[in-house]
Amino acid sequence: MDLFEYQGKQYFAKFGIPVSAGDVAHTVDEAVAISERVGYPVVVKAQVQVGGRGKAGGIKLANNKAEVLTHATNILGMDIKGHVVKRVWVECASDIAEEYYASFTLDRAAKQHLLMLSAQGGVEIEDVAAKDPTAIVKLHINPIVGIDEATAKKAAADAKIPAKAQDGVAAILVKLYGCFTKGDCDLAEINPLILKPTGEVHALDAKVSLDGNALFRHPEWEAFRATEELDDRERLAREKDLQYIGLDGDVGIIANGAGLAMSTLDVVSQVGGKAANFLDIGGGANAELMTSALEVINFDTNVKSIFINIFGGITRGDEVAKGIVEAMRRVQLRAPIVIRLDGTNAEEGRKILADAGIPTSRLMSKPTMLEAARAAVDLANGKTV
Ligand code: GDP
Ligand code: MN
Repeated sequence: MDLFEYQGKQYFAKFGIPVSAGDVAHTVDEAVAISERVGYPVVVKAQVQVGGRGKAGGIKLANNKAEVLTHATNILGMDIKGHVVKRVWVECASDIAEEYYASFTLDRAAKQHLLMLSAQGGVEIEDVAAKDPTAIVKLHINPIVGIDEATAKKAAADAKIPAKAQDGVAAILVKLYGCFTKGDCDLAEINPLILKPTGEVHALDAKVSLDGNALFRHPEWEAFRATEELDDRERLAREKDLQYIGLDGDVGIIANGAGLAMSTLDVVSQVGGKAANFLDIGGGANAELMTSALEVINFDTNVKSIFINIFGGITRGDEVAKGIVEAMRRVQLRAPIVIRLDGTNAEEGRKILADAGIPTSRLMSKPTMLEAARAAVDLANGKTV
């Protein structure tokens, strides 16, 4: 779950990371009230989950009330790379001497946490990586050991952060790591991390992605879920409690198990198709669940064919087949289904599907994943199968 900058900064503040005083505004009046409260000059910042807001005109300095009025009016409602600005964050403007970059992520291959630190901040880190990869220090952190100030300071020195800023940077790195681990983040990034002319180090931006699997121990994350930017399909899926991610292709996908769902996306892509979504219906596959899944897929007007990929383990093929037959009675599907049903009780399941009297133009069974993918992609491309 990705946070907006203002939420990320509020999250940072809980872990003692210094951020500028500010607040979030939904209206021009609110933006003015915040500015009057925190004092001029202020920076008015568009809250959208996309980088490069500055270049797009979504970040403006305001020295007085008239300027806040102008900038807040312009920025609220602005479209930045397809994201409409619904809120602005208004904070005390900072004087900047230097801009750095710092982040913690999980390096799955190394099975360790990864610190990335650079003295070249304020620009997209991908650009730094492309132009001058040596300008980014990468340090693996053993999650059992963590990172202490001395290690953080050495990383700062290695990153050629000037001596006068190293202590401040190191202190923030330790706190940022605390935020990353105790705060259950997938990503905690500060870009730019600034050095002020006064010598203080400070987070001027916040990019935080929370690990959804830790939701159970963070009841306070509910507030973040309320503002999450979901498309209509994802919103419907969430109402139905489905593990769904919207994509931009035309083959609707339903699979049991996240791994199989991922493989299904791969095989669709391998035969030249594009998946419309990821959808894992998990272990159960009764009529209720199958109906919900098909409703969400059917809601997506891009979907031209539906590929149901089931490997029965504990899930039994006959149960799945009954679920599909019943769901197809309940939902008027626009697109045809191709199913690959294998594993426990697959024979019984295929027989139930065959005996249901559904024309093969609406539901066809294929013996392997690859053949099913080919058929689904052909159908999506308007070919007869
Ligand atoms: P992003 O481009 O969307 O990542 O937005 P950022 O929050 O990182 O801001 C982009 C740039 O705007 C920063 O790198 C700064 O150069 C500038 N900026 C943002 N806030 C301030 C501020 O308070 N004072 C000054 N002088 N510049 C700022
Ligand atoms: Mn930034």
